[in-house]
Amino acid sequence: MISSQQRFYHTGATRSVRFRKEQLLLLRQAAQRLEPEMMDALKQDLNKSEQEAYSTEIGIILNEIRVALRNVRRWSKPKRVRTPLTHIGGSSRIVPEPLGTTLIMGPWNYPLQLMLVPVVSAIAAGNTMVLKPSELAPATSGLLARLIRETFPPEYATVVEGGLETSTELLKRPFDHIFFTGSPAVGRVVMAAAAKSLIPVTLELGGKSPCIVHKDANIELAARRIVFGKWTNAGQTCVAPDYLLVHKEVKTALLNKMSEVIEEFYGREPLQDPDYGKIVNGRHFRRLLDLLDDDVRIVHGGQSDEITGKLAPTILDGVTLESKAMQGEIFGPILPVIVYEGTEEILNTVRAHPKPLALYLFSGSREFQQRIIERIPFGGGCVNDTILHLANPYLPFGGVGTSGIGSYHGEFGFQAFSHYKSILKQSDRFDLPFRYPKSKWGLRMI
Ligand code: NAD
Repeated sequence: MISSQQRFYHTGATRSVRFRKEQLLLLRQAAQRLEPEMMDALKQDLNKSEQEAYSTEIGIILNEIRVALRNVRRWSKPKRVRTPLTHIGGSSRIVPEPLGTTLIMGPWNYPLQLMLVPVVSAIAAGNTMVLKPSELAPATSGLLARLIRETFPPEYATVVEGGLETSTELLKRPFDHIFFTGSPAVGRVVMAAAAKSLIPVTLELGGKSPCIVHKDANIELAARRIVFGKWTNAGQTCVAPDYLLVHKEVKTALLNKMSEVIEEFYGREPLQDPDYGKIVNGRHFRRLLDLLDDDVRIVHGGQSDEITGKLAPTILDGVTLESKAMQGEIFGPILPVIVYEGTEEILNTVRAHPKPLALYLFSGSREFQQRIIERIPFGGGCVNDTILHLANPYLPFGGVGTSGIGSYHGEFGFQAFSHYKSILKQSDRFDLPFRYPKSKWGLRMI
């Protein structure tokens, strides 16, 4: 399979802008045609509502395709750059070229978007691709296999379904690039496997993303936007606010307002809400319940139903850095709350963990916003909002440190799947002697 992709790649067929655009159009048609099946698969795997499935998966894919179609010609054009006087007679260009045969591996939480957005980038940049979706979202994995099979020949794009054994085998193969989205733990496995053959990687990972609410924030707005960002997909979002850092003076007001908003969005009985997401499987369900079995106070939610896999939006108070909920990424509908009074406390809490994928900050003060943005490293984030930075294709999306290596979306995705070849073209009309050994000019220059 990989050799056939390599042969196809080496025919040069994937390189013309026309070919790339045709494939993007085919992908768009397929995504539009299979939209009802996508909604069904996402319902089965994660109980996503149609509105959520469209806004967080299908809509994002279609938007990426639109941006790529509009810009791929410009992105793939060689760019002239300056040539210093020392290189007189020459001209210099940067030529983007595809990497070749690529492997795209994805997680289960946004199982369509996190596979197909990198596919858009890989197509736009002129690569062939092997896709390995997550086995924990089986309905979506099967549908992706069908979508790709019905749209592209296997020597151009193909899906390999499977779990650990399949991934392990794939990671031994001679890909030109690996684009991986998943946990930092598996990111290490991927990078170690890639290191054996020096295969370059893009790693889109996770971490504990703080959400800071300062005393001068618009509390009502903060509550709505935090509840939206935290409990979309039942908190199983890589960029969801992982924990809340709230100023002492506004804590009660914020938590009261958040409780109201949770009821407004998911009703008094969220476990009965047909549109509220479910936890992907029993293992994750039990892992999340274990976080509640600790010396903390449940100030909202806490109800669960193992049969439906639902865990209500839950807020924890009385949390310290030692609490279970503050050890690893939560990746579920539980939000621990920590109170602060000064900036140093914020910095100490965030620095107790590896660099996060996202950070959210609610504050009316420009000076405070600037201080936090400058002093805390994180992949990307929002001021006075949550998670929406990832839906802007003009912003690079990626982590830093253990939350990721490299970025994508829009032109940044094109760059992730391209090599920028540098070319100096020299004149053959004349030849200045001063660079050569024993040249008088050279001596004079010194
Ligand atoms: P995961 O790392 O368990 O799995 C991701 C992929 O790796 C799957 O395709 C899986 O089959 C494969 N895999 C699992 N174990 C493997 C192994 N030992 N060797 C090789 N391959 C293996 O991640 P997940 O549970 O599917 O997703 C949750 C994690 O992903 C969270 O940490 C979350 O923050 C992160 N995430 C990051 C982003 C992002 O864009 N940065 C997006 C979504 C999720």
